[in-house]
Amino acid sequence: MHDQRLVDDKFTEECGVFGIFGHPQAVEMAYYGLHALQHRGQESCGIAATDGQEFTVHKGLGLVTDVFTTDRLNKLQGDRIVGHVRHTTAWDNKITDAQPLVFKYRAGTFALAHNGNLVNASQIRRYLERQGSIFQTESDTEVIAHLMARSAYDQIDLALKEALSMIKGAYAIIVLTENQMIAALDPNGLRPFVLGKVDGAYCLASETCAFDVIGAEYIRDVQPGELIVIDQDGLQTGQFTRTAHQTLCSFEFIYFARPDSNINGINVHQSRKLLGEKLAKEHPVDADVVMGVPDSSISAAMGYAQATGLPYEVGLIKNRYVGRTFIKPSQRIRYEGVRMKLSVVRKVVEGKRIVIIDDSIVRGTTISRIVRMLKDAGAKEIHVRISSPPVAHPCYYGIDSSDREELIVAHKTLAEVCEYIGADSLEFLSVEGLREALLQEHGVNGLCLACFTGQYPTEIYPNENGVGKNG
Ligand code: SF4
Repeated sequence: MHDQRLVDDKFTEECGVFGIFGHPQAVEMAYYGLHALQHRGQESCGIAATDGQEFTVHKGLGLVTDVFTTDRLNKLQGDRIVGHVRHTTAWDNKITDAQPLVFKYRAGTFALAHNGNLVNASQIRRYLERQGSIFQTESDTEVIAHLMARSAYDQIDLALKEALSMIKGAYAIIVLTENQMIAALDPNGLRPFVLGKVDGAYCLASETCAFDVIGAEYIRDVQPGELIVIDQDGLQTGQFTRTAHQTLCSFEFIYFARPDSNINGINVHQSRKLLGEKLAKEHPVDADVVMGVPDSSISAAMGYAQATGLPYEVGLIKNRYVGRTFIKPSQRIRYEGVRMKLSVVRKVVEGKRIVIIDDSIVRGTTISRIVRMLKDAGAKEIHVRISSPPVAHPCYYGIDSSDREELIVAHKTLAEVCEYIGADSLEFLSVEGLREALLQEHGVNGLCLACFTGQYPTEIYPNENGVGKNG
């Protein structure tokens, strides 16, 4: 079993999407755009391109740099592309599920890339199978395609709109036909999705970091419930539902998105810094230095240090050359995985009272190992501060989360978790603090907080969801 989560002990983002319509270097840009989105999915990737006549597609298991050689990129022809990076669990990582998925149906060909997870996919799949549909993949994304193909509308945007009226959950979707690129974001706007322009050609991506790398100009975020149609005449937009209300995934700010990306115009690094400041106000502690668990907690640690006036120090170094190792999921191996990934700067740590900031705790495996490593290196006290609230509920919206029994705070008190990880003290940012930072101070319209509160923004079908089967 390969499970990077056992080493990272984090919720894991499951996909990233990218598209360009009408640029002569669209294929090359897709390569760089997907490379910038690699943190959103590392198990498979793909690009579908069209010149307005034919589609060419290449997909593979692995990182963008492994799957796409110059030769393979040269075989992709066209100025319109859609691309995808995908995370999944290893036991579920099949080339057939790699995206974009390409379908031929009575009105033509379309390629479909999806970031998110449908909460009613199993029900729709069962219904369609009873009607005679044969599925080629395990992916929720294929359900959308079947619904589109069954629509009475030949116009693809209308067929997609009809399909969207039946699905529930999280989705940022790009559909590419020979002559149109269509984008849709779910009515809750759970996943980030941005619109830009490069040399006059419209582009779409899960995060703005993909625009920066190709020199595209950010125009705006795609809105919850919005359907955008791009063709040679330009861009048309409209709402496909009247019930749109943003509940953007708060974990995008906490951990998933790249710090240089902006979501809803808010820089991710700055939002993490603010979470660190809030955490400092809620849970100060008498200590000598503040450190962050690299890389994702550095911004929050900076915020915590600034708010408390304590010096910020680099006491943990990440080994950048540890690949995604295939390991057995024993507790011992989990620990060794952490030791391979992180090293302690002994001179910085020795004799110090340390505040260590991490962005989240899922099972508690990584942080307990870090605490032990710091103590072994001579730290006097370790005070763990988490820049998000306790994660007590699984995610059904396209995040590779744990089962509830695996979530440490779901079955242990704060004091028990503190004892388990071996820290001198442990505190989490409150839900109120998270809301205050992101909603009031940063102006996000609405947030999903379900993995903290258990209040899901859509209906869920707990017994029907295979977590991690999505795109
Ligand atoms: S449940 Fe948590 S991880 Fe999932 S979308 Fe909501 S905030 Fe994000």
